[in-house]
Amino acid sequence: MTQTIAPPVASTFDSLDPRTGTVLGSYPVHTADDVAAAVLRARRGAQHWAGLTAGERRSRLLSWRSVLARRADELAAVISSETGKPLDDARLEVTLVIDHVHWAARNAEKVLGRTAVSVGLMMANQRATVEHKPVGVVGVIGPWNYPAFTPMGSVVYALAAGNAVVLKPSELTPGVGRWLVESFATPSGSPDGAPVLQLVTGFGETGAALCTAGVDKVAFTGSTRTAKRVMAACAETLTPVVLECGGKDAMIVDADADLEAAADAAVWGGMSNSGQTCIGMERVYVVDAVHDRFVELVAAKARALRPGPTDRASYGPMTMASQVDVVRSHVQAALEGGGRAVVGGAESVRAPYVDPVVLLDVPEDNLAVTEETFGPVLVVNRVADADEAVERANGGTYGLGASVFAKARGDELAGRLRVGMVAVNSVISFAAIAEVPFGGVGDSGFGRIHGADGLREFTRTHSVVSQRFALPVKLMSFDRGPRMAGQLVRALRLTRGRRR
Ligand code: NDP
Repeated sequence: MTQTIAPPVASTFDSLDPRTGTVLGSYPVHTADDVAAAVLRARRGAQHWAGLTAGERRSRLLSWRSVLARRADELAAVISSETGKPLDDARLEVTLVIDHVHWAARNAEKVLGRTAVSVGLMMANQRATVEHKPVGVVGVIGPWNYPAFTPMGSVVYALAAGNAVVLKPSELTPGVGRWLVESFATPSGSPDGAPVLQLVTGFGETGAALCTAGVDKVAFTGSTRTAKRVMAACAETLTPVVLECGGKDAMIVDADADLEAAADAAVWGGMSNSGQTCIGMERVYVVDAVHDRFVELVAAKARALRPGPTDRASYGPMTMASQVDVVRSHVQAALEGGGRAVVGGAESVRAPYVDPVVLLDVPEDNLAVTEETFGPVLVVNRVADADEAVERANGGTYGLGASVFAKARGDELAGRLRVGMVAVNSVISFAAIAEVPFGGVGDSGFGRIHGADGLREFTRTHSVVSQRFALPVKLMSFDRGPRMAGQLVRALRLTRGRRR
Protein backbone atom coordinates (compact mmCIF):
# COMPACT_ATOMS: atom_id res chain seq x y z
CA MET A 1 0.00 0.00 0.00
CA THR A 2 2.93 2.30 0.55
CA GLN A 3 5.72 2.64 -1.92
CA THR A 4 8.99 4.47 -2.04
CA ILE A 5 9.99 4.86 -5.67
CA ALA A 6 12.98 2.77 -6.67
CA PRO A 7 15.48 5.12 -8.22
CA PRO A 8 15.73 4.73 -12.01
CA VAL A 9 17.12 8.23 -11.75
CA ALA A 10 20.26 10.01 -12.79
CA SER A 11 21.27 11.66 -9.55
CA THR A 12 21.01 11.75 -5.83
CA PHE A 13 21.37 14.32 -3.11
CA ASP A 14 22.47 14.11 0.50
CA SER A 15 20.63 15.03 3.64
CA LEU A 16 22.90 16.63 6.25
CA ASP A 17 22.85 17.25 9.98
CA PRO A 18 22.92 21.08 10.09
CA ARG A 19 24.84 20.98 13.40
CA THR A 20 27.78 19.02 12.06
CA GLY A 21 27.46 18.74 8.30
CA THR A 22 27.44 14.94 8.68
CA VAL A 23 25.80 13.13 5.77
CA LEU A 24 22.72 11.35 7.10
CA GLY A 25 21.46 9.74 3.91
CA SER A 26 21.31 9.89 0.16
CA TYR A 27 18.08 10.29 -1.78
CA PRO A 28 17.09 10.18 -5.44
CA VAL A 29 16.37 13.36 -7.33
CA HIS A 30 13.10 12.34 -8.89
CA THR A 31 12.50 13.69 -12.36
CA ALA A 32 9.22 14.92 -13.82
CA ASP A 33 8.75 11.47 -15.40
CA ASP A 34 9.27 9.75 -12.04
CA VAL A 35 6.76 12.05 -10.41
CA ALA A 36 4.22 11.49 -13.20
CA ALA A 37 4.67 7.72 -12.78
CA ALA A 38 4.11 8.04 -9.01
CA VAL A 39 0.90 9.97 -9.58
CA LEU A 40 -0.25 7.36 -12.07
CA ARG A 41 0.34 4.62 -9.49
CA ALA A 42 -1.42 6.76 -6.92
CA ARG A 43 -4.55 6.65 -9.12
CA ARG A 44 -4.81 2.93 -8.41
CA GLY A 45 -4.04 3.58 -4.78
CA ALA A 46 -6.78 6.18 -4.61
CA GLN A 47 -9.28 3.79 -6.15
CA HIS A 48 -8.35 1.06 -3.69
CA TRP A 49 -8.33 3.36 -0.65
CA ALA A 50 -11.60 5.13 -1.52
CA GLY A 51 -13.14 1.70 -2.14
CA LEU A 52 -12.57 0.65 1.48
CA THR A 53 -15.31 1.36 3.95
CA ALA A 54 -14.86 4.40 6.19
CA GLY A 55 -14.46 1.96 9.08
CA GLU A 56 -11.62 0.11 7.32
CA ARG A 57 -9.78 3.35 6.60
CA ARG A 58 -10.28 4.44 10.18
CA SER A 59 -8.88 1.22 11.53
CA ARG A 60 -5.81 1.40 9.25
CA LEU A 61 -5.15 5.00 10.23
CA LEU A 62 -5.52 4.15 13.90
CA SER A 63 -3.00 1.34 13.42
CA TRP A 64 -0.65 3.91 11.90
CA ARG A 65 -1.23 6.15 14.92
CA SER A 66 -0.23 3.25 17.18
CA VAL A 67 2.95 2.69 15.18
CA LEU A 68 3.78 6.39 15.43
CA ALA A 69 3.16 6.35 19.16
CA ARG A 70 5.26 3.22 19.72
CA ARG A 71 8.11 4.47 17.54
CA ALA A 72 7.85 8.15 18.53
CA ASP A 73 11.44 8.36 19.78
CA GLU A 74 12.73 6.88 16.55
CA LEU A 75 10.89 9.49 14.46
CA ALA A 76 11.98 12.25 16.85
CA ALA A 77 15.58 11.21 16.36
CA VAL A 78 15.27 11.50 12.57
CA ILE A 79 13.63 14.93 12.91
CA SER A 80 16.31 16.07 15.33
CA SER A 81 19.17 14.92 13.12
CA GLU A 82 17.84 16.56 9.92
CA THR A 83 16.68 19.85 11.48
CA GLY A 84 19.21 20.13 14.30
CA LYS A 85 16.49 20.79 16.87
CA PRO A 86 16.93 19.29 20.39
CA LEU A 87 15.43 15.83 20.77
CA ASP A 88 12.72 16.95 23.20
CA ASP A 89 11.48 19.57 20.73
CA ALA A 90 11.28 16.85 18.10
CA ARG A 91 9.39 14.65 20.58
CA LEU A 92 6.88 17.43 21.12
CA GLU A 93 6.40 17.67 17.37
CA VAL A 94 5.72 13.93 17.17
CA THR A 95 3.11 14.04 19.92
CA LEU A 96 1.17 16.66 17.96
CA VAL A 97 1.30 14.47 14.85
CA ILE A 98 -0.09 11.50 16.76
CA ASP A 99 -3.00 13.53 18.08
CA HIS A 100 -3.92 14.70 14.59
CA VAL A 101 -3.88 11.15 13.19
CA HIS A 102 -6.09 10.07 16.07
CA TRP A 103 -8.64 12.85 15.55
CA ALA A 104 -8.75 12.69 11.75
CA ALA A 105 -9.15 8.90 11.76
CA ARG A 106 -11.95 8.97 14.31
CA ASN A 107 -13.89 11.88 12.86
CA ALA A 108 -13.62 11.51 9.08
CA GLU A 109 -16.80 9.49 8.69
CA LYS A 110 -18.84 11.78 10.91
CA VAL A 111 -17.65 14.95 9.15
CA LEU A 112 -17.66 13.69 5.57
CA GLY A 113 -20.37 11.04 5.49
CA ARG A 114 -23.70 11.57 3.84
CA THR A 115 -26.08 13.80 5.79
CA ALA A 116 -29.63 14.91 5.06
CA VAL A 117 -30.24 18.63 4.69
CA SER A 118 -33.49 20.54 4.98
CA VAL A 119 -35.36 20.91 1.68
CA GLY A 120 -37.68 23.85 2.43
CA LEU A 121 -41.37 24.26 1.73
CA MET A 122 -41.25 24.56 -2.04
CA MET A 123 -39.35 21.29 -2.41
CA ALA A 124 -41.09 19.42 0.41
CA ASN A 125 -41.53 16.40 -1.87
CA GLN A 126 -37.73 15.98 -2.20
CA ARG A 127 -35.06 14.46 -0.02
CA ALA A 128 -31.60 16.09 -0.16
CA THR A 129 -28.30 14.67 1.02
CA VAL A 130 -24.79 16.08 0.99
CA GLU A 131 -21.64 14.00 1.10
CA HIS A 132 -17.95 14.82 0.85
CA LYS A 133 -16.08 12.51 -1.49
CA PRO A 134 -12.29 12.28 -1.85
CA VAL A 135 -10.77 14.37 -4.66
CA GLY A 136 -8.50 11.46 -5.69
CA VAL A 137 -4.74 12.06 -5.55
CA VAL A 138 -3.30 14.83 -3.38
CA GLY A 139 0.23 16.16 -3.83
CA VAL A 140 1.74 17.41 -0.58
CA ILE A 141 4.80 19.69 -0.68
CA GLY A 142 6.33 20.04 2.76
CA PRO A 143 8.79 22.34 4.51
CA TRP A 144 11.79 21.65 6.73
CA ASN A 145 11.01 23.55 9.95
CA TYR A 146 8.46 21.03 11.31
CA PRO A 147 9.09 18.27 8.79
CA ALA A 148 6.63 15.84 10.41
CA PHE A 149 3.95 18.05 11.94
CA THR A 150 3.46 20.38 8.99
CA PRO A 151 3.16 18.00 6.02
CA MET A 152 1.19 15.55 8.17
CA GLY A 153 -1.43 18.27 8.66
CA SER A 154 -2.22 17.68 4.99
CA VAL A 155 -1.17 14.02 4.55
CA VAL A 156 -3.25 12.70 7.44
CA TYR A 157 -6.39 14.69 6.66
CA ALA A 158 -6.14 13.87 2.94
CA LEU A 159 -5.78 10.15 3.72
CA ALA A 160 -8.59 10.21 6.27
CA ALA A 161 -10.79 11.81 3.62
CA GLY A 162 -10.12 8.81 1.33
CA ASN A 163 -7.39 10.16 -0.98
CA ALA A 164 -4.06 8.75 -2.06
CA VAL A 165 -1.11 11.04 -1.35
CA VAL A 166 2.24 11.71 -3.02
CA LEU A 167 4.52 13.51 -0.57
CA LYS A 168 7.46 15.68 -1.61
CA PRO A 169 9.36 16.68 1.55
CA SER A 170 11.84 19.55 1.64
CA GLU A 171 15.26 18.69 0.25
CA LEU A 172 16.56 19.40 3.78
CA THR A 173 14.40 16.76 5.46
CA PRO A 174 13.85 13.84 3.06
CA GLY A 175 14.62 11.31 5.79
CA VAL A 176 11.63 12.41 7.84
CA GLY A 177 9.44 12.10 4.74
CA ARG A 178 10.75 8.61 4.04
CA TRP A 179 10.30 7.52 7.64
CA LEU A 180 6.68 8.68 7.64
CA VAL A 181 5.84 7.00 4.34
CA GLU A 182 7.51 3.74 5.34
CA SER A 183 5.80 3.73 8.72
CA PHE A 184 2.43 3.90 6.99
CA ALA A 185 3.28 0.65 5.23
CA THR A 186 3.82 -1.16 8.50
CA PRO A 187 0.23 -1.35 9.67
CA SER A 188 -1.46 -1.07 6.32
CA GLY A 189 0.31 -3.63 4.21
CA SER A 190 0.09 -3.57 0.45
CA PRO A 191 -1.69 -6.74 -0.59
CA ASP A 192 -2.62 -5.54 -4.03
CA GLY A 193 0.33 -3.21 -4.54
CA ALA A 194 -1.87 -0.15 -4.78
CA PRO A 195 0.22 2.65 -3.33
CA VAL A 196 -1.80 4.93 -1.06
CA LEU A 197 1.06 7.01 0.30
CA GLN A 198 4.20 7.53 -1.77
CA LEU A 199 7.35 9.57 -1.46
CA VAL A 200 9.11 11.60 -4.14
CA THR A 201 12.33 13.39 -3.28
CA GLY A 202 14.45 16.06 -4.87
CA PHE A 203 14.70 19.83 -5.12
CA GLY A 204 12.24 22.55 -6.07
CA GLU A 205 11.95 21.08 -9.59
CA THR A 206 10.53 17.86 -8.17
CA GLY A 207 7.94 19.87 -6.25
CA ALA A 208 7.15 21.85 -9.40
CA ALA A 209 6.73 18.57 -11.31
CA LEU A 210 4.23 17.37 -8.71
CA CYS A 211 2.06 20.43 -9.40
CA THR A 212 1.76 19.51 -13.08
CA ALA A 213 1.68 15.72 -12.80
CA GLY A 214 -2.09 15.38 -12.80
CA VAL A 215 -2.82 15.44 -9.08
CA ASP A 216 -6.31 16.52 -8.04
CA LYS A 217 -5.16 18.92 -5.34
CA VAL A 218 -1.88 20.37 -4.10
CA ALA A 219 -1.24 21.14 -0.45
CA PHE A 220 1.79 23.39 -0.10
CA THR A 221 3.61 24.73 2.96
CA GLY A 222 6.52 27.12 2.57
CA SER A 223 7.28 30.65 1.47
CA THR A 224 4.75 33.03 -0.07
CA ARG A 225 7.07 33.45 -3.06
CA THR A 226 7.08 29.73 -3.88
CA ALA A 227 3.35 29.47 -3.08
CA LYS A 228 2.69 31.91 -5.93
CA ARG A 229 4.70 29.72 -8.30
CA VAL A 230 2.78 26.65 -7.16
CA MET A 231 -0.53 28.41 -7.68
CA ALA A 232 0.51 29.66 -11.12
CA ALA A 233 1.55 26.15 -12.17
CA CYS A 234 -1.69 24.67 -10.83
CA ALA A 235 -3.75 27.34 -12.59
CA GLU A 236 -2.81 25.76 -15.94
CA THR A 237 -4.92 22.72 -15.12
CA LEU A 238 -7.34 24.35 -12.66
CA THR A 239 -5.86 22.14 -9.97
CA PRO A 240 -7.04 23.47 -6.60
CA VAL A 241 -4.48 24.37 -3.97
CA VAL A 242 -4.28 24.85 -0.24
CA LEU A 243 -1.43 27.20 0.62
CA GLU A 244 0.07 27.47 4.08
CA CYS A 245 2.67 30.21 3.74
CA GLY A 246 4.68 32.21 6.18
CA GLY A 247 3.53 34.66 8.80
CA LYS A 248 4.59 37.67 10.83
CA ASP A 249 2.55 36.80 13.87
CA ALA A 250 1.89 39.48 16.45
CA MET A 251 1.28 39.32 20.17
CA ILE A 252 -0.72 42.01 21.96
CA VAL A 253 0.00 42.65 25.62
CA ASP A 254 -2.68 44.74 27.34
CA ALA A 255 -2.28 46.66 30.60
CA ASP A 256 -4.03 44.03 32.73
CA ALA A 257 -2.11 41.06 31.28
CA ASP A 258 -0.21 38.56 33.40
CA LEU A 259 3.18 39.98 32.37
CA GLU A 260 5.23 37.05 33.58
CA ALA A 261 3.13 34.65 31.49
CA ALA A 262 3.12 37.00 28.51
CA ALA A 263 6.90 37.39 28.56
CA ASP A 264 7.39 33.64 28.86
CA ALA A 265 5.04 33.07 25.91
CA ALA A 266 6.66 35.78 23.78
CA VAL A 267 10.13 34.33 24.28
CA TRP A 268 9.08 30.74 23.75
CA GLY A 269 6.76 31.62 20.86
CA GLY A 270 9.43 33.72 19.21
CA MET A 271 12.57 31.73 19.86
CA SER A 272 11.80 28.04 20.24
CA ASN A 273 12.88 26.08 17.18
CA SER A 274 15.29 29.02 16.52
CA GLY A 275 12.26 31.10 15.55
CA GLN A 276 11.74 28.89 12.50
CA THR A 277 8.02 28.58 13.12
CA CYS A 278 5.39 29.88 10.72
CA ILE A 279 3.14 30.71 13.69
CA GLY A 280 6.06 31.94 15.80
CA MET A 281 5.85 35.34 17.51
CA GLU A 282 7.81 37.93 15.55
CA ARG A 283 6.19 41.20 16.70
CA VAL A 284 4.94 42.17 20.16
CA TYR A 285 2.80 45.26 20.74
CA VAL A 286 2.78 46.23 24.40
CA VAL A 287 0.67 49.00 25.89
CA ASP A 288 2.65 51.87 27.32
CA ALA A 289 1.61 51.30 30.95
CA VAL A 290 3.34 47.89 31.16
CA HIS A 291 5.90 48.19 28.37
CA ASP A 292 9.04 48.70 30.44
CA ARG A 293 8.30 45.92 32.92
CA PHE A 294 7.42 43.55 30.07
CA VAL A 295 10.69 44.34 28.26
CA GLU A 296 12.67 43.67 31.45
CA LEU A 297 11.03 40.25 31.80
CA VAL A 298 11.49 39.36 28.14
CA ALA A 299 15.11 40.46 28.14
CA ALA A 300 15.93 38.39 31.22
CA LYS A 301 14.30 35.29 29.77
CA ALA A 302 15.89 35.73 26.33
CA ARG A 303 19.37 36.27 27.80
CA ALA A 304 19.06 32.96 29.65
CA LEU A 305 18.62 30.97 26.42
CA ARG A 306 21.52 28.89 25.14
CA PRO A 307 21.32 27.71 21.54
CA GLY A 308 23.63 24.89 20.61
CA PRO A 309 24.16 21.41 19.21
CA THR A 310 23.21 19.36 22.28
CA ASP A 311 19.84 18.07 23.41
CA ARG A 312 20.11 20.31 26.47
CA ALA A 313 20.30 23.44 24.29
CA SER A 314 17.39 25.91 24.35
CA TYR A 315 17.17 25.54 20.61
CA GLY A 316 19.29 24.33 17.71
CA PRO A 317 20.85 25.85 14.60
CA MET A 318 19.19 27.47 11.62
CA THR A 319 18.16 24.45 9.58
CA MET A 320 18.51 26.18 6.21
CA ALA A 321 21.92 27.83 5.86
CA SER A 322 20.66 30.71 3.70
CA GLN A 323 18.17 31.71 6.41
CA VAL A 324 21.07 33.05 8.47
CA ASP A 325 21.54 35.85 5.92
CA VAL A 326 17.84 36.73 6.07
CA VAL A 327 17.98 36.99 9.86
CA ARG A 328 21.14 39.10 9.76
CA SER A 329 19.65 41.46 7.16
CA HIS A 330 16.50 41.97 9.24
CA VAL A 331 18.46 42.73 12.43
CA GLN A 332 20.70 45.15 10.53
CA ALA A 333 17.71 46.84 8.88
CA ALA A 334 16.04 47.29 12.28
CA LEU A 335 19.14 48.84 13.85
CA GLU A 336 19.82 51.09 10.86
CA GLY A 337 16.16 52.08 10.77
CA GLY A 338 16.12 53.49 14.30
CA GLY A 339 15.39 50.39 16.37
CA ARG A 340 17.58 49.42 19.31
CA ALA A 341 18.58 46.04 20.68
CA VAL A 342 18.12 45.18 24.36
CA VAL A 343 19.31 41.63 23.84
CA GLY A 344 21.90 40.68 21.21
CA GLY A 345 22.36 42.47 17.92
CA ALA A 346 24.01 41.88 14.57
CA GLU A 347 26.79 39.95 16.35
CA SER A 348 24.23 37.38 17.56
CA VAL A 349 24.25 35.80 14.12
CA ARG A 350 27.04 33.21 14.24
CA ALA A 351 26.10 30.57 11.72
CA PRO A 352 24.68 28.05 12.00
CA TYR A 353 23.36 29.44 15.32
CA VAL A 354 21.65 32.71 16.08
CA ASP A 355 21.61 33.91 19.67
CA PRO A 356 18.41 35.58 20.91
CA VAL A 357 17.79 39.11 19.68
CA VAL A 358 15.20 41.46 21.20
CA LEU A 359 14.65 44.72 19.31
CA LEU A 360 12.68 47.75 20.51
CA ASP A 361 11.04 50.71 18.75
CA VAL A 362 11.42 49.35 15.22
CA PRO A 363 9.50 51.44 12.66
CA GLU A 364 6.42 49.68 11.33
CA ASP A 365 7.62 49.95 7.72
CA ASN A 366 10.98 48.30 8.52
CA LEU A 367 11.87 44.93 6.98
CA ALA A 368 12.10 43.45 10.48
CA VAL A 369 8.41 44.28 11.02
CA THR A 370 6.98 43.68 7.57
CA GLU A 371 8.75 40.49 6.39
CA GLU A 372 9.01 37.03 7.90
CA THR A 373 12.36 36.77 9.72
CA PHE A 374 12.14 33.08 10.66
CA GLY A 375 14.82 33.44 13.32
CA PRO A 376 15.02 33.96 17.11
CA VAL A 377 14.35 37.69 16.81
CA LEU A 378 11.58 39.48 18.67
CA VAL A 379 10.50 43.03 17.83
CA VAL A 380 8.80 44.70 20.81
CA ASN A 381 7.02 47.96 20.04
CA ARG A 382 5.25 50.31 22.44
CA VAL A 383 1.61 51.30 21.75
CA ALA A 384 -0.70 53.75 23.50
CA ASP A 385 -3.46 51.19 24.03
CA ALA A 386 -4.73 47.80 22.87
CA ASP A 387 -6.73 49.37 20.04
CA GLU A 388 -3.57 50.76 18.50
CA ALA A 389 -2.02 47.31 18.98
CA VAL A 390 -4.84 45.73 16.96
CA GLU A 391 -4.42 48.31 14.22
CA ARG A 392 -0.67 47.68 13.98
CA ALA A 393 -1.04 43.90 14.21
CA ASN A 394 -3.47 44.06 11.27
CA GLY A 395 -1.22 46.43 9.34
CA GLY A 396 0.91 43.87 7.49
CA THR A 397 0.31 41.68 4.47
CA TYR A 398 0.48 38.38 6.40
CA GLY A 399 -2.31 37.01 8.55
CA LEU A 400 -1.57 33.55 9.96
CA GLY A 401 -1.79 33.40 13.76
CA ALA A 402 -1.69 35.80 16.69
CA SER A 403 -1.69 35.92 20.46
CA VAL A 404 -3.38 38.25 22.95
CA PHE A 405 -2.45 38.59 26.61
CA ALA A 406 -5.22 40.45 28.42
CA LYS A 407 -7.78 39.85 31.15
CA ALA A 408 -10.80 42.07 30.47
CA ARG A 409 -10.59 42.42 26.68
CA GLY A 410 -8.89 39.21 25.56
CA ASP A 411 -11.68 37.72 23.46
CA GLU A 412 -12.79 41.08 22.08
CA LEU A 413 -9.28 41.94 20.85
CA ALA A 414 -8.85 38.43 19.45
CA GLY A 415 -12.04 38.82 17.43
CA ARG A 416 -10.70 41.92 15.69
CA LEU A 417 -7.48 40.37 14.41
CA ARG A 418 -7.24 39.61 10.67
CA VAL A 419 -5.68 36.16 11.00
CA GLY A 420 -6.69 32.52 10.86
CA MET A 421 -6.11 31.64 14.54
CA VAL A 422 -5.65 33.56 17.79
CA ALA A 423 -4.47 32.24 21.15
CA VAL A 424 -5.70 34.23 24.17
CA ASN A 425 -3.34 34.11 27.16
CA SER A 426 -1.17 31.47 25.47
CA VAL A 427 0.82 31.05 22.25
CA ILE A 428 0.58 28.53 19.43
CA SER A 429 -1.94 26.50 21.46
CA PHE A 430 -4.33 26.33 18.49
CA ALA A 431 -1.88 24.15 16.53
CA ALA A 432 -2.06 21.49 19.23
CA ILE A 433 -5.85 21.16 19.14
CA ALA A 434 -6.71 18.80 16.32
CA GLU A 435 -10.22 20.14 15.93
CA VAL A 436 -9.12 23.76 15.35
CA PRO A 437 -8.73 24.60 11.63
CA PHE A 438 -5.29 25.92 10.70
CA GLY A 439 -4.48 28.40 7.93
CA GLY A 440 -4.15 32.06 7.13
CA VAL A 441 -5.29 35.00 5.07
CA GLY A 442 -3.45 37.41 2.76
CA ASP A 443 0.19 36.53 2.16
CA SER A 444 -0.15 33.68 4.65
CA GLY A 445 -2.20 31.74 2.10
CA PHE A 446 -5.65 30.20 2.11
CA GLY A 447 -7.49 26.98 2.71
CA ARG A 448 -7.43 25.06 5.97
CA ILE A 449 -5.79 21.97 7.37
CA HIS A 450 -6.76 20.33 10.71
CA GLY A 451 -10.24 19.83 12.10
CA ALA A 452 -13.43 19.35 10.11
CA ASP A 453 -12.42 22.08 7.64
CA GLY A 454 -9.13 20.26 7.11
CA LEU A 455 -10.95 17.05 6.22
CA ARG A 456 -13.35 18.82 3.85
CA GLU A 457 -10.42 20.63 2.21
CA PHE A 458 -9.45 17.35 0.53
CA THR A 459 -12.91 16.48 -0.73
CA ARG A 460 -15.46 17.50 -3.30
CA THR A 461 -18.98 18.16 -2.14
CA HIS A 462 -21.47 15.80 -3.72
CA SER A 463 -25.19 16.42 -3.33
CA VAL A 464 -28.10 14.19 -4.30
CA VAL A 465 -31.71 15.42 -4.38
CA SER A 466 -34.25 12.57 -4.74
CA GLN A 467 -37.94 13.04 -5.36
CA ARG A 468 -39.96 11.17 -2.73
CA PHE A 469 -43.36 11.69 -4.34
CA ALA A 470 -44.80 13.72 -7.23
CA LEU A 471 -46.70 16.91 -6.47
CA PRO A 472 -50.04 17.56 -8.16
CA VAL A 473 -48.60 20.83 -9.48
CA LYS A 474 -45.42 20.71 -11.51
CA LEU A 475 -43.09 23.61 -10.82
CA MET A 476 -40.23 22.62 -13.03
CA SER A 477 -42.03 21.65 -16.18
CA PHE A 478 -43.30 23.29 -19.35
CA ASP A 479 -46.65 21.87 -18.23
CA ARG A 480 -46.91 24.15 -15.26
CA GLY A 481 -50.09 26.25 -15.42
CA PRO A 482 -50.02 29.92 -16.44
CA ARG A 483 -50.87 31.16 -12.94
CA MET A 484 -48.42 29.00 -11.07
CA ALA A 485 -45.52 31.53 -10.81
CA GLY A 486 -47.87 34.27 -9.57
CA GLN A 487 -49.36 31.97 -6.92
CA LEU A 488 -45.89 31.04 -5.81
CA VAL A 489 -44.83 34.66 -5.40
CA ARG A 490 -48.01 35.38 -3.38
CA ALA A 491 -47.31 32.40 -1.13
CA LEU A 492 -43.72 33.51 -0.64
CA ARG A 493 -44.84 37.04 0.19
CA LEU A 494 -46.92 35.59 3.01
CA THR A 495 -44.20 33.36 4.39
CA ARG A 496 -41.01 35.27 3.59
CA GLY A 497 -42.20 38.84 3.16
CA ARG A 498 -42.57 39.63 6.85
CA ARG A 499 -39.90 41.78 8.45
CA ARG A 500 -38.93 39.07 10.94
P1 NDP B 1 10.21 27.20 -0.15
O1 NDP B 1 8.89 27.82 -0.17
O2 NDP B 1 11.11 27.48 -1.30
O3 NDP B 1 10.10 25.61 -0.01
C1 NDP B 1 9.00 24.92 0.52
C2 NDP B 1 8.80 23.61 -0.24
O4 NDP B 1 8.49 23.89 -1.60
C3 NDP B 1 10.02 22.72 -0.27
O5 NDP B 1 9.63 21.36 -0.24
C4 NDP B 1 10.63 23.06 -1.60
O6 NDP B 1 11.47 22.04 -2.10
C5 NDP B 1 9.41 23.19 -2.46
N1 NDP B 1 9.58 23.98 -3.68
C6 NDP B 1 10.57 24.86 -4.00
N2 NDP B 1 10.35 25.40 -5.22
C7 NDP B 1 9.21 24.85 -5.69
C8 NDP B 1 8.43 25.02 -6.89
N3 NDP B 1 8.79 25.85 -7.84
N4 NDP B 1 7.31 24.30 -7.02
C9 NDP B 1 6.89 23.46 -6.05
N5 NDP B 1 7.58 23.26 -4.91
C10 NDP B 1 8.72 23.95 -4.72
O7 NDP B 1 10.87 27.63 1.21
P2 NDP B 1 12.37 27.61 1.67
O8 NDP B 1 12.65 26.28 2.24
O9 NDP B 1 13.30 28.09 0.60
O10 NDP B 1 12.32 28.73 2.80
C11 NDP B 1 12.22 30.10 2.42
C12 NDP B 1 11.35 30.87 3.37
O11 NDP B 1 10.04 30.33 3.41
C13 NDP B 1 11.81 30.83 4.81
O12 NDP B 1 12.74 31.83 4.99
C14 NDP B 1 10.55 31.08 5.57
O13 NDP B 1 10.36 32.48 5.67
C15 NDP B 1 9.47 30.50 4.69
N6 NDP B 1 9.04 29.16 5.15
C16 NDP B 1 7.82 29.07 5.73
C17 NDP B 1 7.40 27.86 6.23
C18 NDP B 1 6.08 27.73 6.88
O14 NDP B 1 5.94 26.91 7.79
N7 NDP B 1 5.06 28.44 6.44
C19 NDP B 1 8.23 26.67 6.15
C20 NDP B 1 9.47 26.86 5.47
C21 NDP B 1 9.85 28.08 5.00
P3 NDP B 1 13.03 22.09 -1.73
O15 NDP B 1 13.15 22.24 -0.25
O16 NDP B 1 13.49 20.79 -2.20
O17 NDP B 1 13.58 23.28 -2.48
